[in-house]
Amino acid sequence: MRRTVGQVYAVDGVSFEIGAGETLGLVGESGCGKTTVGRTVLRLIEPTAGRIEVEGKDITHLGRSELRPFRRQMQIIFQDPFSSLNPRTRAGDIVAEPLRIHGVHSKEERRERVAQLFGRVGLRAAQMDAFPHQFSGGQRQRIGVARALALNPRLIVGDEPVSALDVSIQAQVINLLMELQRDLKLSYLFISHNLAVVEHISHRVAVMYLGRIVEYTDKVSLFQRPLHPYTEALLNAVPVPDPRVRREKRVVQGDVPSPLNPPPGCHFHTRCPYAEPRCKIDSPLLREVEAGHQVACHLR
Ligand code: SF4
Repeated sequence: MRRTVGQVYAVDGVSFEIGAGETLGLVGESGCGKTTVGRTVLRLIEPTAGRIEVEGKDITHLGRSELRPFRRQMQIIFQDPFSSLNPRTRAGDIVAEPLRIHGVHSKEERRERVAQLFGRVGLRAAQMDAFPHQFSGGQRQRIGVARALALNPRLIVGDEPVSALDVSIQAQVINLLMELQRDLKLSYLFISHNLAVVEHISHRVAVMYLGRIVEYTDKVSLFQRPLHPYTEALLNAVPVPDPRVRREKRVVQGDVPSPLNPPPGCHFHTRCPYAEPRCKIDSPLLREVEAGHQVACHLR
């Protein structure tokens, strides 16, 4: 019963950096390892290998107390504003929780800070005593944003932070995040499967497939000149709201293979329209093919 029958490499050989005040968009289909990357960066999941550095300091193996100041600098906004807030806790207490855990401020000062945070994210201080079910989906995600901001972080990992919201509300929350970034010089790791949202908010984008980054470049290059067949297929699948625009339909077929048994060679070869015999054997390395544009494909 206790035998190990296999290993899943949810994320393998992923490497990236995020500058101050910058947003790195991390895109890919469900199950490609995006969330694992986000949580590993925050050390909510321990990496089995590799290094996580914050402002040059290696935090990969820091103990709980040494990690504490870095934890304050790095926060997360979860996908589901319904399940990520405790239904029995008042909104103000949810936002105050990180301050309490880190022993910041007295009770009165915490309440003042929470009221200020409520105003910052577009909620009223009078709503601090309400329970999560008394808020709409968008307002709940604003509570999640306020909680993430409480400790004045430098980096926020947004794990599909708008995916569960209505489209009209998504835009409001995205605009709020961009406004906060501008004012507070925040850095974001923005995880999403929605390319339109990623294009709007990101400065640079990393595309993931089955645990590996297959393309990594600035937003303009990625959306105007994608070089990896998977990115090309993802972009082709985005609907264009203009009946005059005809796109070459090269939509990727089939499902993402199981990470328990990934295909050999290039992981994408089972779905790639350009696959060659060597793609089934050799795994392409992520390499710079143009200035600032990295791709993992034998054809580039
Ligand atoms: Fe397709 Fe081969 Fe490039 Fe992989 S290496 S994306 S299978 S062409």
